[in-house]
Amino acid sequence: MLVTLRQIVQEVSTAKQLDEALDIIVHRVKAALPIDACAVYLTDEESDQYVLMAAEGFNPASIGKVRIDRQEGLPGLVGERRELIIVSDAATHPRYHPSSATGEERYHSFLGVPLIHYHQVLGVLVAWKRAPGQFGKDEVTFFVTIAAQLAKAIHDASAVEEVSRMLSGELQGVAFIQGIQMAAGVALGTAALLDPLARLESIPDRPARDIAAEMTAFRTAVTAVHEELRASSERLAADVPSEVRAVFDVYVMLLGNDGLASDALVRIRAGNWAPGAWRDTIAAHAQIFEQMEDPYLRAGAEDIRAIGQRVLVQLQGEAKASRQYPQQCILVGDTVSITEIAAVPVGQLAGIVCMHGSALSHTAVMARALGIPAVVSLAPLPIGRLDGCEMVIDGDQGRIYIEPSSAVLDAFLQLISEQQAHSERLTALRDLPAETPDGFRLPLYANIGLVSDTVAARDCGAEGIGLYRTEVHYLLHDAFPLEDEQYQIYRKVLADFAPSPVTLRTLDAGGDKILPYFPVQEDNPFMGCRGIRFSLDHPEIFLIQLRAMLRANAGLDNLQVLFPMISRVGELDEALGLLARAGRELLEEGLDAKIPRVGVMIEVPSAVFLATALAERVDFLSVGTNDLTQYLLAVDRNNAQVTTAYDGLHPGVLDAIHHVVKGAHLRSKPVSVCGELAGDPAGALLLLGMGVDALSMSPANLARVKQVIRSFTLQRARSLLDEALGMEDGFAIHRLLNGALEEAGVLMRRQTAA
Ligand code: PEP
Ligand code: MG
Repeated sequence: MLVTLRQIVQEVSTAKQLDEALDIIVHRVKAALPIDACAVYLTDEESDQYVLMAAEGFNPASIGKVRIDRQEGLPGLVGERRELIIVSDAATHPRYHPSSATGEERYHSFLGVPLIHYHQVLGVLVAWKRAPGQFGKDEVTFFVTIAAQLAKAIHDASAVEEVSRMLSGELQGVAFIQGIQMAAGVALGTAALLDPLARLESIPDRPARDIAAEMTAFRTAVTAVHEELRASSERLAADVPSEVRAVFDVYVMLLGNDGLASDALVRIRAGNWAPGAWRDTIAAHAQIFEQMEDPYLRAGAEDIRAIGQRVLVQLQGEAKASRQYPQQCILVGDTVSITEIAAVPVGQLAGIVCMHGSALSHTAVMARALGIPAVVSLAPLPIGRLDGCEMVIDGDQGRIYIEPSSAVLDAFLQLISEQQAHSERLTALRDLPAETPDGFRLPLYANIGLVSDTVAARDCGAEGIGLYRTEVHYLLHDAFPLEDEQYQIYRKVLADFAPSPVTLRTLDAGGDKILPYFPVQEDNPFMGCRGIRFSLDHPEIFLIQLRAMLRANAGLDNLQVLFPMISRVGELDEALGLLARAGRELLEEGLDAKIPRVGVMIEVPSAVFLATALAERVDFLSVGTNDLTQYLLAVDRNNAQVTTAYDGLHPGVLDAIHHVVKGAHLRSKPVSVCGELAGDPAGALLLLGMGVDALSMSPANLARVKQVIRSFTLQRARSLLDEALGMEDGFAIHRLLNGALEEAGVLMRRQTAA
């Protein structure tokens, strides 16, 4: 049975069109089981009906024509109940309404299973037997198993079909494809498909006729790519900070003599022609990364493949320096590399769409630095058909709209102009205090990860840096940064904001932030060696960072050190011990090193329950709602398929934060919140009500949150919190807060476009 099941699923997944996939399903299922008919109905949301899409054993003329209301008939019952239904003599069942067009009256026993994918009933798979009677246990097991497996294949095939309908203009409305956010922002533009020709993987083997000539050709191609990388980096000099341009150095390093290039030369010497040797070299290096579970390591494989492609283009003499890009260009590719981004004139690049890749890749860092919206994880898409089509990219929601209807276009144009007008209004708030109408001051800080981000933090009126993610610097480098290098960076950030506080979080590596030069192989990296665990496992690396921080603080005294992912007091004690040791060492070396204010991130569920004990040992707590939500709800924060389940306003999450605030205040220690919830108007309002002492957020959200603070009295925020805490369901909390914000004229994102 397992073999047949696998074969069917395999065949279905290779079908090019939905119709073809459904035909395979009914044909193969009927052949595999002792049944007389098999049919698939798919849901048509618009008409609220099921449409008979494929059948074996029904009148062929009925296929595509028969529709049944979702509340009607036996298939309707299966969808309604969302469960397997067996009826041994259908004629006696109250929901039996056979369609004369199908000829199903001749059958008597019925078996139906819903096709469910991520809570959505995509359709119903049914089987009929001529004679009344039961279905055997094996038949039922087979049917249920195949339905569960086919739901995903049907979902993917319908996604491709939907795109085709969007492209043909047949699907008018607000249809979109959901991916995940890589970089925020909204843009309209024309898709420019990256050249799919000459893919490295399809290069054949060929014996090298002249090994020396192949080696020379290869070296010339590598030199040309080196030059291309240098030129790309220079081209972006005015638009992205030098720290971000450092990713080009990573490419240069990969191409260096000790890396890929020397490997390829060995293969050429062994007799393969240069493109073939290069293909094997890239495949071998990329595979090491690609097979790893961890998204950041997979992002490393993207870099290697991108380099591979650039060298191949040079080897084949196809370097086209002068490709023309549309005016509002949305780059679309299976993956999009930083050199491909750099090839588009900066003013012309409107967005980036990648089928595969990671929200943490160098492409993502580059897109954010350029302020270009980007969306990733959109497979399955018929990518080859997208070139030249009009597209809306909604980086805020991680969605794209293909050939959008004029209504969608209008909605987005309006959204963009409203956002512009709104941000102008918000700019006016820049120098006003974040103070409620009843006089409660709530300091607003910025979350940043690059030295250059201090400009944005200043521009938005942040009163300090509530979270500096030091790992960004580590991630952009090809080796652990040395003490002096780190010192320079921290000193600059601290000096930029002195005397306002700057919170430097110690390295939060691991999880989705694996250092490319320190690969850790773990089955479940989010539960593995991450955050403080990594630092405590490597005191030699941790001490370098702590020393750099303390040195940077000398004479400024505005440093706050923050420890990530603390899950027990022992870890905190150990980290505090190492901080004290770093201070002692520096004093012994004759340097000025005061122990700064220290904070603990509350982002692991156990830390919530230890809030008072942790607060007793440090100066402040900072709630990381991103990880706390992920761990409390067991929802991966980077998985596009479970975004609806990832909810910072879930009553469980709110209760946990409230518990932390009360626990820290018991020891008279302040609590700030530095996860995304702090930058969300609804979240900020509830956090205000909880009595948090500061909020820290992305600079882009700061003015909006300040508007919220200035629009609600503390008393009103408290009463909204009381109401929210009495609710059992996140949706109800969203409704409550949206209503309050709308009433106050704060909510700006329009649901029509969303
Ligand atoms: C958090 O988890 O909320 C947080 C601020 O840390 P990061 O997003 O860097 O994991
Ligand atoms: Mg975190």
